Amino acid sequence: MLATVIHAARDIRVEEVPDPVLSTGGDAIVRVVAACVCGSDLWPYRGVTATDEPHRIGHEFVGVVEAVGDDVRDITPGDFVIAPFYVCDGTCVNCRNGVSTSCLTGGWWGSADRLGGFADGGQGERVRVPLADGTLAVVPGPVADDEIPGLLTLSDVMGTGHHAAVSAGVQAGDSVAVVGDGAVGLCAIIAAKRLGATTIIAMSRHPERQELARRFGATHIVAERGKDGIERVRELTDGIGADRVLECVGTKESMDQALRSTRPGGMVGYVGVPNGGPELPIAQMFGRNVGVNGGVAPVRGYIDELLPDVRSGAIVPGLVFDLELPLGEAAEAYAAMDERRAVKVLLRP
Ligand SMILES: [Zn+2]
Repeated sequence: MLATVIHAARDIRVEEVPDPVLSTGGDAIVRVVAACVCGSDLWPYRGVTATDEPHRIGHEFVGVVEAVGDDVRDITPGDFVIAPFYVCDGTCVNCRNGVSTSCLTGGWWGSADRLGGFADGGQGERVRVPLADGTLAVVPGPVADDEIPGLLTLSDVMGTGHHAAVSAGVQAGDSVAVVGDGAVGLCAIIAAKRLGATTIIAMSRHPERQELARRFGATHIVAERGKDGIERVRELTDGIGADRVLECVGTKESMDQALRSTRPGGMVGYVGVPNGGPELPIAQMFGRNVGVNGGVAPVRGYIDELLPDVRSGAIVPGLVFDLELPLGEAAEAYAAMDERRAVKVLLRP
């Protein structure tokens, strides 16, 4: 089959790889219907994280189950499924505590699992899914083609934006500022609105993204950054800062922006993959009673809650995909996102 392999920074190839096989009783083989490129895939693409040897890449996909192992109970061939960006059993103590990203038997796409098989990367024609009952979420009934982008966001970005909002404790009537206008930041706007925030400030400098932010529920746009950005947020929030700030980038600058845009007693929900080493200024947080909560989003646990709203059209996160390419053009998909020509690229095998 064909799958995407990263060979080195800026060297993405779609090439022939071994077909996946059922290697434990708990596996499923999924034919990928759609996959996508994640902002975090850009770290190895840009060489920020090293690629020592060629490896499979991609961790967001939806597809149709082709085969299951003898021990699989909840997944049936023919099911349309959403895969979260990681593997989890759904039964261990961390999964039961709602932190399935810390699953004791879990793992990551594009690498060996803990059971003796290989969990394929998501940007390919097929994937062997370990722990299929815990990992995969079934979408009931027939799935229309135009539903696919929205369903694919539940693999990562919509669930991650939701995690930022939940971690920050967004409630009805809150003012919320969102730092970051990538797909996760845009989905965080959707999540904040869905949880009842009434003032939603999108921090974005890009006209197309500002427009999407407004469509998703942003009531105000702040294009300024740094000190000016904080001033603008305060002007919009009775001079004190936002009740909740959702940090969706992961840099030192974005975390600083988030902390200083939060009102005394408020909370930052952070989901940006830390890169460039943001560190917390505890003395500043102490003095203003600003809290920080969040981390890698346990999106598998959010799919059941968000799926009905995606299917009904109450929320339309699929609009974050502004470019669709065949799998064979994965290299162009990476380049388009790297150069910010696209917010998020959907790949069709
Ligand atoms: Zn687990």
